[in-house]
Amino acid sequence: MAEDRPIYLDNNATTRTDPRVVEAMLPYFTERYGNAASLTHRFGQEANEAVEQARQQVADLIGAHPRDILFTSGATESNNLALKGVAALYRSKGDHLITAATEHKAVLDPVRRLSREGFHITILPVDPYGRVSVERVAQALTPRTVLVSIMAANNEIGTLQPIRAIGRLCKERGVLFHTDAAQAAGKIPLDVEDMGIDLLSLSAHKMYGPKGVGALYVRRRDPCVRLGPQMDGGGQERGLRSGTANVPGIVGFGVACELCRHEMASEAVRLTELRERLRRGIQEQLEDVILNGHPTERLPGNLNLSFAHVKGEALLTALRDVAVSSGSACTTASLEPSYVLKALGLDDDLAYGSIRFGLGRFNTADEVETVVQEVVRVVRYLRALNPLHAMASLQ
Ligand SMILES: *Cc1c(COP(=O)(O)O)cnc(C)c1O
Repeated sequence: MAEDRPIYLDNNATTRTDPRVVEAMLPYFTERYGNAASLTHRFGQEANEAVEQARQQVADLIGAHPRDILFTSGATESNNLALKGVAALYRSKGDHLITAATEHKAVLDPVRRLSREGFHITILPVDPYGRVSVERVAQALTPRTVLVSIMAANNEIGTLQPIRAIGRLCKERGVLFHTDAAQAAGKIPLDVEDMGIDLLSLSAHKMYGPKGVGALYVRRRDPCVRLGPQMDGGGQERGLRSGTANVPGIVGFGVACELCRHEMASEAVRLTELRERLRRGIQEQLEDVILNGHPTERLPGNLNLSFAHVKGEALLTALRDVAVSSGSACTTASLEPSYVLKALGLDDDLAYGSIRFGLGRFNTADEVETVVQEVVRVVRYLRALNPLHAMASLQ
């Protein structure tokens, strides 16, 4: 790759596909191009075997049974299938869903649609670190609640939710529990049994796999979760998600899960160190830099900072040699401050002046040093131009 490309620190938006993953995928484009549902010949059989091996690799990452893994096109589809699929089949039991204000749009938008269709929705607030309180979840449960959906880790601020406690509460109360684990999977340990999870969404491209493939874990025992399919057709994936399997993508996803399972523990230590080096480097040299999200209960590679008296837009433009994002990548088309930061109670100045640094597997300590210097230089420059900042520093 060209030397003059910016340093990539946007790993919460997507990750580079690991070369080992690409390598594993290649034969499924060339020699092994069979349809995994064409079991009458060798081509279909080898594709099917590869898909089943990947199903096992995905299941192993989250302590699940491979039968309970459905392949999808990504976490957006998995979230839609989980929320709308449960809503469709449990309506006679109840019509109330609980979620949180800082969820990804791929949860909030399906929930909004269900609300237009007559479902009652509780959107829980979060504390200033972005955490949902288990007591609040407990208080929100009613006899008509069928599903609680709380993400495992936030994509903007990296905050981890108390998934295990929420899962156990839901188990006690006989309510289904879904978690969007697109950011958490492969970064922190997840176990669907220990955590009382009934449905869990995954995305390959957030964990060094290819784009356009993901999975939904659907518990089939204790209890057996039923879903209304959102895609009808050839009856693939137990009739719950029709469409010809994306065999190369699924193979890559499986290998990505396997690599994360083996490397997650040491990688978490390395990334936490790099993240803290980045945070300290910036905060030691600049005043009025606020950490967004939880100081310790956060994804190893995520750092979200607000720079007082500087606009995130201006920062992004000036930081040309660093690929980062301001607010959420999915909402940067608008100039609205991030709804996640607003939910933490940040005022507009700080919400506008935020940058998300997403460190990943391919980032190095040298890159972090360069980014610290760049950020310090650019923020000093922009603040010098801002009369508000000049006045604030006189006080
Ligand atoms: C990226 C992301 C999604 C969407 O995943 P896709 O596979 O890109 O559809 C959903 N939820 C969270 C938390 C994410 O980070």
